[in-house]
Amino acid sequence: MPHAEHHSGDRTILVGLIGRGISLSRTPAMHVAEARAQGMVCTYNLLDMDDAAMADVTLPDLLTRLEAEGYAGVNVTYPFKREVMALLDELSPAARAVDAVNTVVFRDGRRFGHNTDMWGFGESFRRGLNGAKTDHALMIGAGGAGGAVAHALLECGVSRLSISDVDPNRAADLAKQLLQTTERDVEVNIVRDIPEMVAKDRPDGVVNATPMGMAKLPGTAFPVDLLTPEMWVADIVYFPLETELLRGARAAGCRVLPGEGMAVFQAVRAFEFFTGSPADPERMKATFRAFDSEPVATDARPSERKREEI
Ligand code: NAD
Repeated sequence: MPHAEHHSGDRTILVGLIGRGISLSRTPAMHVAEARAQGMVCTYNLLDMDDAAMADVTLPDLLTRLEAEGYAGVNVTYPFKREVMALLDELSPAARAVDAVNTVVFRDGRRFGHNTDMWGFGESFRRGLNGAKTDHALMIGAGGAGGAVAHALLECGVSRLSISDVDPNRAADLAKQLLQTTERDVEVNIVRDIPEMVAKDRPDGVVNATPMGMAKLPGTAFPVDLLTPEMWVADIVYFPLETELLRGARAAGCRVLPGEGMAVFQAVRAFEFFTGSPADPERMKATFRAFDSEPVATDARPSERKREEI
């Protein structure tokens, strides 16, 4: 359990999410419903830097204001996960390793930075792919989420990680960063030609950490005809839950891990940091899934900038 004893006993909790284009985020609902189920009242505000009212607000000013207003903490997302780090007093080992913060806790006049994306993917992996072979994994996509996923994969026992990205510099930067921060003796390779690599050196599992497969970006970054039944396949895209990659993987007889687990468990961990109280993952997952059965709110105008993944 993360240490955050400060708010247990309080019956109200004030938190929020700082980011851009965050109006479709499912995270506020998960926190509010979980708090309610535990007899707390949670106000979770969207602090969207794209809003006209925020036009003149800087990140340092916003953090100072939220702290003064009694916020227990904030989630932080695109594009502030790195920028916020310089404004904090302490960083957790995960935040330092991934070099990104998605959860800030205010306590006793100090600011603590955590990365619950990494734990979120790791916990989802441990539960959903328990016992999977982890000698060699291929991860496609070395962007913001890929960093957290790569660290989680190494923590979950992957000893050889191959990384592919359409931008090879991103894959190279992440590989370098992983080797610098990981204490285990691991091998990290950059892959330029996926079919060639799979033919020569079949990985035990594949992780999609690119946006390919999202409703607005159909397709798959990994050719599904390369899959064989003994491989496992994880996707971090969760809108839709069943991506083209996961559909192909199921058809090929592979074990699969959908992206909702990472999204739910990052919130589970953040809830614990904010409130000091353990969260019920099944309850948070039920709130998360309710979005798929509800009509789209009338004010949820489609926009290129809306990110469903937060
Ligand atoms: P990002 O833009 O920071 O990174 C995406 C990376 O993928 C980039 O480096 C890009 O070059 C690479 N890429 C794109 N298409 C590719 C392809 N066809 N082949 C190889 N590489 C390709 O985005 P991000 O913040 O890392 O998010 C990626 C996706 O992860 C999001 O679109 C979202 O669906 C998902 N996500 C899920 C969760 C979760 O909790 N499940 C959390 C964050 C993001």
